[in-house]
Amino acid sequence: MTILIFSGKAFDGKRFHKDARLKVDSDSGRILEFGERGSVEEPRGAKKIGVEGGTFMPGLIDAHVHFYSSKGAGVNEWASVPDTLAVLRGAGDLLKLLRAGFTAVRELGTKGGVHLAQAVAEGDIEGPEVVSCARALAQTGGDDDPPAFPLEVAQQLASYTYFCDGPWECRRAVRKVARDGGRVVKFYASGAFSRGAKVKPNFTEEETRAIVDESKRLGLKVAAHAYGEEAIGRAVGCGVDSIEHGLGITPRLASEMKRKGIRYVPTLVTYANPAYKNRYNEMVKRHLSDDMLIAKERGAEVVMGSDIVGDGARPHGRNFEEIVEEARFLGNREALVAATSRAADCLGLEKAGSLRRGYRADVVVVRGDPERDIQSLAPEKVVHVMKSGKLV
Ligand SMILES: [Zn+2]
Repeated sequence: MTILIFSGKAFDGKRFHKDARLKVDSDSGRILEFGERGSVEEPRGAKKIGVEGGTFMPGLIDAHVHFYSSKGAGVNEWASVPDTLAVLRGAGDLLKLLRAGFTAVRELGTKGGVHLAQAVAEGDIEGPEVVSCARALAQTGGDDDPPAFPLEVAQQLASYTYFCDGPWECRRAVRKVARDGGRVVKFYASGAFSRGAKVKPNFTEEETRAIVDESKRLGLKVAAHAYGEEAIGRAVGCGVDSIEHGLGITPRLASEMKRKGIRYVPTLVTYANPAYKNRYNEMVKRHLSDDMLIAKERGAEVVMGSDIVGDGARPHGRNFEEIVEEARFLGNREALVAATSRAADCLGLEKAGSLRRGYRADVVVVRGDPERDIQSLAPEKVVHVMKSGKLV
């Protein structure tokens, strides 16, 4: 048994500890013990990992990413990147994420997303664990359907989405996601801004029910991309597991989400990006102020998700900035909960996201103290990253 020890300031997935100690079994990749420094003995021959005035915590988790891997931005660019090139670039992005302290991500629509996930799981490439949706579900003419191409060509190019219409096609699309090896179902309950500022709900009530019901039957969680009260309301009413983006959330919907345990993944950093902020004023401005206050006041639980897509406008690497944005509303501790223990739960990861006995030894050490300064999570402050008991 190879034992590794971390001692110093810690965040355990829920709260901070001034002086704690973590004991890891590198061979099994599991945590042996975590507690106050004095209560955890240091076995002889254990290897010490330097924390020196920094802080150690569970590996970070981004619950909403894509690896579109295009140089330009927008649905036509994303759709027309060859699949092979997309996954090669995606592999590079995964390494960047891991080095920045991310040990798990959920991808919600990516060319070859399940294969990226498989390559990481089998040790062919280095990266965070990838929970893949295989392909997103969108209605024909919906957000991922590049309208400049004939439909068959569009479907072929947009190989990160299944277009489906009517409840049985929707059920079949969910079954295809399961067949592909997807671990979560992502669907577009509304459009986004790629067709302009007017965003409409997508999928009927009947179709939405079919997607959610079929997903539950197959044991998959459901993530709904939703803008606007009508789309959020329909998704929440049908019992999805998370609302992605959630622009235009209302107090009534936030309360219903709390009651049903539906998570809120606000992807603020995407809208704070000048490409969005300056173009789509009202809804975005509201999202960057009121929406988070409503979620907080009504107790809807926030999970960290950046919606960084890995294109020229929104490259991977500084995903921690989502935590910084969320911390403005939630405070540093709660924003870290959203990016560790609660995110692990949202992704359906077993025994991950917390420093607890028997949990996965995914650990990041940063220089500085994120309790006081959330910027301590920046990649240049990351000193060590451990995934499943192995230092990266
Ligand atoms: Zn997204």
